Amino acid sequence: MAADSFDVIGVGIGPLNLSLAALIDDAGRRLKTRFLERDTEFDWHRDMLIPGTDLQNSFTGDLVSPVDPTSQYSFLNYLKTKDRYWEFFNYEQFNIPRKEYNEYCRWVSERLENCRFDREVTTVSEGDDGAFIVRARNPETGERHEYRADNIVLGVGSRPYVPDELSGKLGEDVFHSSQFLSRRADCLEADSITVVGSGQSSAEIFLSLLRAQEEHGYRLDWLTRSDGFYPVDPSKLTRELRTPDYMDYFYDLPREVSDGRVAQQDLLYKGISPGTSAAIFDTLYRRSIRNDVDVGMLSKTAVQSIESQSKGRYRLRCHQWEEDRLFRHDSEVVILATGYHRPVPSFLEPVEDALVDADGRFSIDRDFEVETNGLAGRLFVQNDGMDAHGFNVADLSLCSHRNAVIINSIVGEEVYSVENGSRFQSFGVEQFVEESPNSELIEKVAFSTD
Ligand SMILES: Cc1cc2nc3c(=O)[nH]c(=O)nc-3n(C[C@H](O)[C@H](O)[C@H](O)COP(=O)(O)OP(=O)(O)OC[C@H]3O[C@@H](n4cnc5c(N)ncnc54)[C@H](O)[C@@H]3O)c2cc1C
Repeated sequence: MAADSFDVIGVGIGPLNLSLAALIDDAGRRLKTRFLERDTEFDWHRDMLIPGTDLQNSFTGDLVSPVDPTSQYSFLNYLKTKDRYWEFFNYEQFNIPRKEYNEYCRWVSERLENCRFDREVTTVSEGDDGAFIVRARNPETGERHEYRADNIVLGVGSRPYVPDELSGKLGEDVFHSSQFLSRRADCLEADSITVVGSGQSSAEIFLSLLRAQEEHGYRLDWLTRSDGFYPVDPSKLTRELRTPDYMDYFYDLPREVSDGRVAQQDLLYKGISPGTSAAIFDTLYRRSIRNDVDVGMLSKTAVQSIESQSKGRYRLRCHQWEEDRLFRHDSEVVILATGYHRPVPSFLEPVEDALVDADGRFSIDRDFEVETNGLAGRLFVQNDGMDAHGFNVADLSLCSHRNAVIINSIVGEEVYSVENGSRFQSFGVEQFVEESPNSELIEKVAFSTD
């Protein structure tokens, strides 16, 4: 089979690669591109499109507007085209429903000629001329496709993560949050449900089940090993850390400083949205008027194991780490909102040795390109490299900025301006001193102890 040849192949069509596809199309460059997605259509975290949930970002951070507000692929143009502009005008909200973000992205994907669905990438290898050979198949029909690419942009997202000690009982009644809506109807028939985890997904699932509890009558519990059911910090000055300037500052930190730094920044991106937190509390409060709260919530509690019991129940062994106390907890359904991780995709196996460092990780440079060991083709990665780029790697409002950087790097000139400086606070001493008339850098002096 003669392979079709492309300047850029995008693997996966989630929001991040969709933004790239749209910006490349808008730029009008003669880049030959193709984006490949294994699903039959764009469908964003479909089992978490819980009614009533909102995007955590402003619509102004859509797929394209931060770098090109005049783009035909903007959210506002979507509204205009769908004849919904004035409804949105009167809606007066910045955070749009998640369902609507999904519709908007699908609309963009349907307008782009470079997107192909039903194409699961199965291998990436190196061809004789040094370019990548990308093989894909239609998951339904088995039909095979082959492409040649000078550049690949990985946009395969992250994968549901369940700790090893909890994975043994995964099945119909013990499942990851990413399957919630498919399993919700069965869940409602249980006599007890336990949600594990404390991020936004666990809170949305807990709230959804709390609202249905009166009708279905189950016991509902929520356990997390985190210190509390904390909110993500939504304040404006903190949100300035979700800017290109902060990403640049973070990237410039020495690796020994930035490594592990994200683990201390949970409240910047991992907590519960204040709106969801308030909705949970207020629902509980209203229930409490009639003393009708059949709910348990406990933080600082790690679930150490899950064992099957008789009559379709599961027994959780739990450890409250602050008091250092153990207890058993039984439940018919257990929902594990234990997060996502980013393993190196198996389809990269033929070239993996040239891509990963001694720890088996990608080393990702400022332009989101993987530093390779002798490959001629260039590989860029979306939604990875937190150790280098910080907690913002998956942030949707920054996706157009990251993609502008990638496009400029592939083309070798400035197609989109990525100039920064659009913020009030400084990140780093150099920036502060440069912008402050009253400050001056002083050199560090090494003191002798003699
Ligand atoms: C429920 C949920 C809500 C979130 N809400 C927000 C939010 O409001 N704001 C925010 O900033 N962030 C949010 N995030 C974090 C992040 O922005 C999202 O996870 C986002 O979807 C990441 O986009 P992506 O394009 O990297 O990956 P994904 O959206 O996961 O898309 C990856 C795509 O790649 C495809 N794929 C995988 N392997 C292959 C293959 N071999 N061949 C072809 N295709 C393949 C998958 O089918 C998928 O469609 C949320 C995350 C979750 C889980």
